[in-house]
Amino acid sequence: MTNTKVPFYKHDLGEAELKQIENVFSGAILTTGSTVQRFEERFASLLKSKSAVGLTSCTGALHLSLLALGISEGDEVITTPMTFIATSTAILEAGATPVFADVEPDTGNIDVKKIEQKITGKTKAIMPVHLYGQMCDMVAMKSLADTHGLKIIEDAAHCIEGSRDGYYPGQLADFACFSFYATKNLTCGEGGALVTNSSTLAEQVKLLRTHGMNKTASDREREGYTHWDMTVLGWKYNMDNIQAAMLLPQLDRLDKKSFLRHELSEYYREKLQKNSHINLPTTLDGVKHALHLFPIFVESELRDLTIEKLQQMEISTMVNYRPVHLNSYFRTKFGFKKGDFPIAEEFGERVLSLPFFPGMTKEQVDIVVNSLERVFK
Ligand SMILES: *Cc1c(COP(=O)(O)O)cnc(C)c1O
Repeated sequence: MTNTKVPFYKHDLGEAELKQIENVFSGAILTTGSTVQRFEERFASLLKSKSAVGLTSCTGALHLSLLALGISEGDEVITTPMTFIATSTAILEAGATPVFADVEPDTGNIDVKKIEQKITGKTKAIMPVHLYGQMCDMVAMKSLADTHGLKIIEDAAHCIEGSRDGYYPGQLADFACFSFYATKNLTCGEGGALVTNSSTLAEQVKLLRTHGMNKTASDREREGYTHWDMTVLGWKYNMDNIQAAMLLPQLDRLDKKSFLRHELSEYYREKLQKNSHINLPTTLDGVKHALHLFPIFVESELRDLTIEKLQQMEISTMVNYRPVHLNSYFRTKFGFKKGDFPIAEEFGERVLSLPFFPGMTKEQVDIVVNSLERVFK
């Protein structure tokens, strides 16, 4: 949608990012090098994790997390159907089987009590998603995982700035994975990273992100050419210096932008409370919300009509998400059908995400709110 009155999202990349890109251009290495390393150090410290590894996507981060933990064919990974498909497809890419557990009705996050019911002898890991930026109950999940000897890989694509009960993504898990896709809170167009507190696992992921080769371009830059060896089957998921250059200056703006997100969210909530057709999401106690998206809930019969009418008024919305298991591929491959995960399904029928980004003005929020009033008249 171009020329919309209120866009769904607008990035704020500009001079600071261009300057960093220029620095990369004047250096020798465009691919993974010292700029990526600087980003990794700052990102790990932001998340209070020992290591971060820069990658080309969150999907790649999820995939490599599974591989580094030795999860493959015959293994099951418990995850949520209320997410973007990548959470499940990464499990399939690793050769393992995604097993869904239904979600909590108030947050849309995977329900820890329902995870327990899905554990079998084949279960190797849990892959929760911190939906919209509200963290799952990681304390309860970690305790369950420890009881059953399971690994945890967090899909934290929505949750760079969030925490719960004082824990950040990655602190109660083996890995937390992040996305720098075009509309995410931190973006370089396409990109991703993971954090981990295990330096052994971080090294393993670094090997896996560049074909399993034991020498990289920056090694050649430092030491000159020496023969390399391929020691494991790896993939091609390494972040390059240009992506890292775009990300570095944004780290300085994260706090400020998070503050703006909270201000806008409060303003939206205050105005939308008056609309009896709209339900607003809940933030639980102990949660610092990353507010990646601003979802609202309407009657399921009116949801698609609402999207259509807003579109006519030049207001862009999205649905995050229709549940994964009802996509044709998953229905065909696994025999999933409507009714399998009723809470996720109802959630997915009622939800829509409104325009929401730190540079959004209160006037733009007013336009969206007034348009919604007209929709329900
Ligand atoms: C965006 C997103 C992903 C995929 O991220 P990419 O960087 O595009 O691979 C995965 N999971 C969730 C929940 C997302 O929102």
